[in-house]
Amino acid sequence: MKKVKYIFLTGGVVSSLGKGISAASLGLLLKSRGLNVAIQKFDPYINVDPGTMNPFQHGEVFVTDDGAETDLDLGHYERFLDINTGKLNNTTTGQVYFEVISRERRGDYLGATVQVVPHITDEIKRRMMALAATNGYDVIITEIGGTVGDIESLPFLEAMRQLMMKVGRDNFLSIHLTLVPYIASAGEIKTKPTQHSVKTLLEIGIQPDILICRSREELSVPIKEKIALFTNVQTDCVISGRDVDSIYEVPLEYLKENLDEIVLSKLKLKAGKPNLIKWKSIVRKITKPKHEVSIGMCGKYNSVPDAYKSITEAFIHAGAENDARVNIKWISAEELETKDNIDKYFEGIDGLLIPYGFGSRGIEGKIKAIRYARENKLPFFGICLGLQCAVVEFARHVCKLKDANSTEIKVTQHNVIDIMAEQKEITDKGGTMRLGSYPCTITKDTKAYCAYRKNHVDERHRHRYEVNNKYRELLAEHGMIFSGIYMNKDLVEIIELNDHPWFVACQFHPELKSRATKAHPLFREFIRASLENKK
Ligand code: GLN
Repeated sequence: MKKVKYIFLTGGVVSSLGKGISAASLGLLLKSRGLNVAIQKFDPYINVDPGTMNPFQHGEVFVTDDGAETDLDLGHYERFLDINTGKLNNTTTGQVYFEVISRERRGDYLGATVQVVPHITDEIKRRMMALAATNGYDVIITEIGGTVGDIESLPFLEAMRQLMMKVGRDNFLSIHLTLVPYIASAGEIKTKPTQHSVKTLLEIGIQPDILICRSREELSVPIKEKIALFTNVQTDCVISGRDVDSIYEVPLEYLKENLDEIVLSKLKLKAGKPNLIKWKSIVRKITKPKHEVSIGMCGKYNSVPDAYKSITEAFIHAGAENDARVNIKWISAEELETKDNIDKYFEGIDGLLIPYGFGSRGIEGKIKAIRYARENKLPFFGICLGLQCAVVEFARHVCKLKDANSTEIKVTQHNVIDIMAEQKEITDKGGTMRLGSYPCTITKDTKAYCAYRKNHVDERHRHRYEVNNKYRELLAEHGMIFSGIYMNKDLVEIIELNDHPWFVACQFHPELKSRATKAHPLFREFIRASLENKK
């Protein structure tokens, strides 16, 4: 069996330096050289997964094909590398303790005192190496969540140190991402926070091999030399991670700094030359597009852009394929609820997207926005809750069922959206929605078919409610088309309208399958329709 090489990425100084983007960028460079690369993330929180966390706090929950609810960084891995991740790619402290405590209760450790070292660290190491047994990977990149020095991430770092001893220095590489701030009042770049961060890592027994230093500008050689001197890192292994306009430029920045070459030589790995032709052409389209289009996003979590990360990225990919910059205009659903005339909210908007969501807050505002888009022939795209709101709107204003609603919001005479049969008995909240990939059959001669150009697609889900089949006939009589169906259980997956330039909504989450070099067909067509509407 070939030896897998382990690359670990830790972060220092402050959070939000973009460790996920760094891991994904390095992964892309290695993959572009022909290596088989996996990326995984270890998150220090005690929730078993982020599925039970509020999007206001944690941002989006990224759902994988196998139905795992994971950290949004897995989205970056998939979008950059064009790979599918799964439950093995994201471990939390909660999962580790859950596993160890379950074993303890079973009696697997009978007689022993169960401790952080070795029991918790052993379980962490097992998970750090689990992917090695699958798919014949050459390299496994592991991103450790949090910042070095946090109490919570200590067991992960200890496990990483132990793993280094186990697999040997030739098969292990430690990369540390830090911040090199510019202090305006002094007019200087400061290396001290990086020095301190590396010291903290050294206390744990980990010497970083490579430093990636986030900074406003490229680091000068003297600054790199200074950082190298204080951190026992070779000068050429101090990499600049300067600020760029688009995250998709980051791999090209690392390429300029020779990060891939350095990694290969340190790990004694042989690989081909990087092939980034397609990537470079996409970056060109993202950074210098010919056209521009404005999309109204009417959601509940507007104040937290991370809550819609995959959607905003899918817009970038779809924009690139249409040679257009997609400007997002956030429309507050709650604000619309209180207004009689909402026309002014749509000034300069070429298309409307209603994203996912839970609970009743802002629902009536979303329904108002959809009515506006339907009646004014504004291209409309609904995702999950967006589809459910579109069905409620159509039932109320076209089918004249005045009290039509979703059971999630209010039980009425006409719950056109209802809880799925299999969900009725479920009381636990964690990991119990309809999750992950399910097949969808597409009807010929529909907008959905025009986008996908195939009969069968697989898409990812995260929901408890569904179109109530009792109302399908009535909705269809009034012109609603059910263009995508999950045949096994006869569940509606896509709806659309005919007498409208582009009115499409889906029960699944297409944004989760959009890739930098492969925009999702529905997003691509929505942007195309919005551009046409603009003309
Ligand atoms: N709250 C709705 C449901 O559970 C929609 C979920 C979503 O938008 N992801 O069905």
